[in-house]
Amino acid sequence: MKICSACLLGTECRYDGKSKPNQKVIELAKSEKLIPICPEQLGGMPTPREQTELNGNRDAITISGKCVTENFIRGAKEVLKIAKVLNIKEAILKQRSPSCGCGQIYDGNFLGKIITGDGITAALLKKNGIYIISEEEL
Ligand code: SF4
Repeated sequence: MKICSACLLGTECRYDGKSKPNQKVIELAKSEKLIPICPEQLGGMPTPREQTELNGNRDAITISGKCVTENFIRGAKEVLKIAKVLNIKEAILKQRSPSCGCGQIYDGNFLGKIITGDGITAALLKKNGIYIISEEEL
């Protein structure tokens, strides 16, 4: 059993109200139990919502400048709670998201520049010993 970013399984939970279905993840779901989670929704963010990136202080800032770090942290904690209750040790998370990104995120300037780093949920899961891969590494 693994945790999985819900948007990769076709849930329309992204900031733009759309999904990001990934065929490899959807195929995997036929043979393995994947638990879909969207940390931003779990943290109380609406859908659709403003595009958000992490700044240099690891605050989650929307494109209009609103700080939503609290929501992002709340969502990350909810995902960790689900992982612990279900004794899940692995996750497949959407690359480059400010919540789910694992290894790559955007630099906070909304210009499409990618830097090394983890989203807020990915970082919390890693800190708690959960092994994470992105859909691109499947
Ligand atoms: Fe997908 Fe994660 Fe973004 Fe939710 S927070 S839309 S699961 S990448």
